[in-house]
Amino acid sequence: MRVCAGIGWHGRPYTEEVVLADLDLSGDSGRSGAQVFAGRQGLLFLFPLGEQAAWRLLATRASAGGSGLDFGQLGTAVPHTDLQRLLSDVGLDARIERLAWSARVPLQCSLAARFRRGRLFLAGDAAHNCSPATGQGMNAGIQDAVNLGWKLGFAANCSGGEAAGGLGAEVLLDSYDTERRPATHRRLILTHTVFWAEASTGRIPSWLRAVAAPRAAPAVPILLDRRRLVAEGIRFISQLRVNYGHSALSVEGRPRLHGAPRPGDRLPDATVSVGGPPQRLHGLLAGAGVHVLLQRDAAPPPDAVLGPQVTVLRLRNSPGRGLIAVRPDGHVDFRCGTTDAAGLSNWLSLIGASASPSSRP
Ligand SMILES: Cc1cc2nc3c(=O)[nH]c(=O)nc-3n(C[C@H](O)[C@H](O)[C@H](O)COP(=O)(O)OP(=O)(O)OC[C@H]3O[C@@H](n4cnc5c(N)ncnc54)[C@H](O)[C@@H]3O)c2cc1C
Repeated sequence: MRVCAGIGWHGRPYTEEVVLADLDLSGDSGRSGAQVFAGRQGLLFLFPLGEQAAWRLLATRASAGGSGLDFGQLGTAVPHTDLQRLLSDVGLDARIERLAWSARVPLQCSLAARFRRGRLFLAGDAAHNCSPATGQGMNAGIQDAVNLGWKLGFAANCSGGEAAGGLGAEVLLDSYDTERRPATHRRLILTHTVFWAEASTGRIPSWLRAVAAPRAAPAVPILLDRRRLVAEGIRFISQLRVNYGHSALSVEGRPRLHGAPRPGDRLPDATVSVGGPPQRLHGLLAGAGVHVLLQRDAAPPPDAVLGPQVTVLRLRNSPGRGLIAVRPDGHVDFRCGTTDAAGLSNWLSLIGASASPSSRP
């Protein structure tokens, strides 16, 4: 599809490959939980599987080429002797008792030159392909889908000249590329760097694995005890820190609302009061559509600017006169220190969520 649409594909294949195998090991009675071992060729992971075999092995090694299939497809099986050698290389005193399944996986680090051409949108591995290091690929694909899904739905509400700037749905649909492509590019830099340290057989990464990693290992339990540090690390790895502040959809109203998430930020969860017992904000936002969150003393926006997909909530435990508007994927895109009806109306028009033109003030 990419080729047919004339969309470039920038990147390169890795000279290393991943090896996957489901196996039973001898001498693993004391072993439990996920484990990682550093070896000459790269890291070797063992994950408890619980079905088909006791362990899922994931290891990296220099690719001999010719795995037989395209990127994104599982390649040929791995000989028993190769797998046993990988275990020995990392100093693991275990023998493969039974090999249930194995495959070579060719890897690349590549990004489509654009995520949209007209009515064609690329998402997931068709738009970006990376190594499994830090587990970003599927998560990025899900974020693509979450970003694009509501825009396709709302685009149907943008009739040609009605949306802000007279561009109809184009600004909204183009924002899929301008938001997701840079975010994905940053993810590829992360996975590429980690994969280099994890799997490259160059002198520096080999030294990192052989010398630096064992020396740093005693610090790991201490770092894992720092809850805030761990939480921030998990948010980052889980792509919850993705920000679309540069997007054409992210609008800062005047006067500026200080102390609130910025346009483009993902709205963090919080305990809020909208009348009745305290509730989780993300629970309230789980409903479809756009949510306009008013601070306690904010004036209500005129009904005439609100389309049917807009829900207004007043946060009684948030003092102030401002408002923020949250789009269906949970990102804040408009904030203002007062209820600026015209500013809110323009932003809703931009994303295709305004009231019908005839009912606007
Ligand atoms: C070893 C390994 C470990 C990984 N670990 C993680 C992880 O921990 N976390 C994470 O987030 N990601 C991980 N990933 C990445 C993740 O698996 C992929 O990013 C994800 O599966 C991509 O999903 P997708 O739907 O975009 O593409 P795919 O899963 O490739 O699905 C595309 C589907 O389309 C089908 N198809 C292709 N062409 C056509 C056609 N012309 N017509 C009809 N159907 C077609 C294919 O057969 C396939 O079923 C890992 C990848 C590997 C290789």
